[in-house]
Amino acid sequence: MSSIDTTLSPLFAKIDELKPQFIQRLTDAVAIPSVSSDETLRPKVFAMADFLKEELAKLGADDITIKDLGIQPPPVSDPELPLPPIVLSKFGSDPNKKTVLIYGHYDVQPALLEDGWASDPFTLVEKDGKLIGRGSTDDKGPVMGWLNSLQAHKELGLELPVNIVFCFEGMEESGSIGLDTLIAQEAKKYFKEVESVCISDNYWLGTKKPVLTYGLRGCNYYQISIKGPGADLHSGIFGGVIHEPMTDLVNVMSKLVDINGNILIPGVNEMVAPVTEKEASLYKDIEFDVDELNLAAGSNTAIYQSKKDILMHRWRFPSLSLHGIEGAFSGAGAKTVIPAKVVGKFSIRTVPDMDSKKLDELVINFCNEKFKELKSPNQFTTELIHDGAYWVSDPFNNEFTAAKLATEKVWGVEPDLTREGGSIPITLTFEKELGANVLLLPMGKGDDGAHSINEKLNTPNYIEGTKTLSAYLHYFGATK
Ligand SMILES: [Zn+2]
Repeated sequence: MSSIDTTLSPLFAKIDELKPQFIQRLTDAVAIPSVSSDETLRPKVFAMADFLKEELAKLGADDITIKDLGIQPPPVSDPELPLPPIVLSKFGSDPNKKTVLIYGHYDVQPALLEDGWASDPFTLVEKDGKLIGRGSTDDKGPVMGWLNSLQAHKELGLELPVNIVFCFEGMEESGSIGLDTLIAQEAKKYFKEVESVCISDNYWLGTKKPVLTYGLRGCNYYQISIKGPGADLHSGIFGGVIHEPMTDLVNVMSKLVDINGNILIPGVNEMVAPVTEKEASLYKDIEFDVDELNLAAGSNTAIYQSKKDILMHRWRFPSLSLHGIEGAFSGAGAKTVIPAKVVGKFSIRTVPDMDSKKLDELVINFCNEKFKELKSPNQFTTELIHDGAYWVSDPFNNEFTAAKLATEKVWGVEPDLTREGGSIPITLTFEKELGANVLLLPMGKGDDGAHSINEKLNTPNYIEGTKTLSAYLHYFGATK
């Protein structure tokens, strides 16, 4: 047995022994409704920060620093609404060890029993091997997993294999306000020694096989505004005699993408990095099929039937989605209004090697051109309203290699290397500001229902997940 194996067996045994305490820790965390998007619950988000602070102190942190982020910028109902703090903490400062920053968030999505939960969302219940409660998988389970790991080390008198810097935020579900700035400010201070970042805030692709995530798509979000008459009009009087903004908008939006998801804006697909053989081979063993997609979508409406096509189009090709039209009549019934001003919203999920600025230019020019073809006298503008970059890491670097060993050790199976179709913007911020590799090491399963009703974390994922996180620290700490 290698020396790591010798260390891990008693550690895993300790984690098994402490299982009831670990479930209690998660129960206590879930009981605090730290919903960041609900202003009335802001004190609870602060209470959750206090909870973490107490836990970290009990575990013997060398430092705990609470970073106040000031007042939340508008739009807010309470102009004095304080932002939840960032909880920073350090365990160890041995210059001979690697320093790993561990990020997690302690706020959660809203949840009401009336939404259809089978039980009170803020009372953790264990049923059929599942820990059900808001935040169980996103992201209180993984955050508690790290604390559990520290407790197991402490009770065994086992030295940590790396120095740990924690960064826990309370606004992740509400746009991570203030986090980018804080990371930039602390890059050369609190985070000075950090050489690697680990984030457990995503999920396995499916339900059977653990994964390591090495890529995320970005998102550029646009809006098209069209203004015509001075006020909303009646179609009985003005229908057929004026240029209607809604007709213009639907015309332009219909030119952006075809019904098979192909982006029709010239130049966009040309920016996409070609698929290499090495990359294509990563898709072979991934556990996924079209049924899983249909189940998740709740319909049989898949564009592609093969696993590889589905996953590539979710992960490594761009997509364009039409989201909505502001100002359009959207209620029930037969209102005969001609809206005076409409704003169409759409976004493009971006991938390597798309250039964000060039994309904006292509999109805006294309929309202008298509509108011009309509020869409408209405006022027309297209603008970018939000963008977040894509991220791709080298799935064969030290971090991924250590995480692969840790996953195999605990789960007895080689993890699938996956990407995700969505974004975790903070991934890129850490990489850029700290010059560190980032690893996404998920704990929960693909069917956990983060953000949805009856959110759960399977008990084995919580306990074996705690072991995986622990083993990762040991394997990574041992890399040269
Ligand atoms: Zn999350």
